[in-house]
Amino acid sequence: MSSLPNMHDAEPIPAEARAEIDRLLLSGDLFRYTAPEDAPVALLEREFAALLGSKYALAVSSCSAALFLSLKALDLPRGAKVLIPGFTFAAVPSSIVHADCVPVLCEVGENYRIDMADFEAKLDGVSAVIVSHMRGHTSDMDAILALCDARGLPVIEDAAHSLGTKWAGRNIGTLGRVGCFSFQSYKLVNAGEGGILITDDAELVARAVILSGAYEHNWRKHMAPGDNTSELEEAFARWQNRLPLYNLRLSNLAAAVIRPQLAHVARRVRDGRRNHDHVAAILNRSPWIEVPDKLAPEERAPDSLQFNLAGMSAEDMRAFIAAAEAGGVKVQLFGLSTDNARAFWNWQFLDDLPELPRTRAMLERACDTRLPARLTLAECEAVAEVLVSAADSVMGPLRAYGT
Ligand SMILES: *Cc1c(COP(=O)(O)O)cnc(C)c1O
Repeated sequence: MSSLPNMHDAEPIPAEARAEIDRLLLSGDLFRYTAPEDAPVALLEREFAALLGSKYALAVSSCSAALFLSLKALDLPRGAKVLIPGFTFAAVPSSIVHADCVPVLCEVGENYRIDMADFEAKLDGVSAVIVSHMRGHTSDMDAILALCDARGLPVIEDAAHSLGTKWAGRNIGTLGRVGCFSFQSYKLVNAGEGGILITDDAELVARAVILSGAYEHNWRKHMAPGDNTSELEEAFARWQNRLPLYNLRLSNLAAAVIRPQLAHVARRVRDGRRNHDHVAAILNRSPWIEVPDKLAPEERAPDSLQFNLAGMSAEDMRAFIAAAEAGGVKVQLFGLSTDNARAFWNWQFLDDLPELPRTRAMLERACDTRLPARLTLAECEAVAEVLVSAADSVMGPLRAYGT
């Protein structure tokens, strides 16, 4: 059997980061607002906006902070309802609670994407929508944007795990009013912690910048020199002194770790997709494992793999996970543990937790395993072999490769 890769180590941080971090350590210049201009955080914002093709970017301490600031920047009234998919990370409903709003959950299908009939049914009375592209799976953005535009509802994209994903040729994160990304270590660009929001809306970014902790006239350092910034400048002037400061800023050290990784995004996306599709094709030959198809307009950027177990009892599924782990591949079944942060019934900090039977049925057989872009195809085949053999060992190989 080919040897199994280490599935947990991240890629090394590009060497260029070291020289920049040394420079920052020698000068002590770690705060984004110390230098008069061109601080690493400000340069990161310009580079990230250019990479994605948006007008403005604001780098903050996490994607959760970016989601929270997006909601506050939209100026939603206290108690406003925000629609989210029932399959997402607990940070998403948490950001809504922090913003004094109320999450409304809609069903997600067995392909991990928003159930559009339930989405539409739950839109009445909602003031905003957060589309969480969970694990980088993109829901039907054409249908979502058409429904939301018709009602004048702002869409926030939670693109934490979707950097590099495209929908009909457009970058995920640029389709809604605002897009939020994460630089936490399990995402495509790794700074340990960090996040960023992008938007074309001057009013929204001006509010978010001040809320994020641009006290006094530090908002001036968010305007790129030479830009035609009168629209932005007027928005900043309008909100000066009128918003509370939450101090969710990013440090120059994090920006120094992130900036040299942006040049590697395209390669990581290409390799991650190649790895995912290779393993998915092997797994789909097993009668016990199903990797759902992506939607047609979607170009994915996966660094992990999700699949559904078929024809297995709960006991079989536990045995499958144990067999995979014994073979060296760690698999989590979203709905099996009592504290999984992606299972909506564990979000007990919410009042009136709804029941979502379709989402629950999906979570009770959907598995998750890491599949980093840095793996070779041979390593990917070794991972696939462990998973297929684990299913065969539990269910018997008799019907494997049948039909
Ligand atoms: C990681 C993640 C988040 C949270 O990102 P942080 O930067 O850790 O706050 C939110 N949503 C999704 C879909 C994620 O994958």
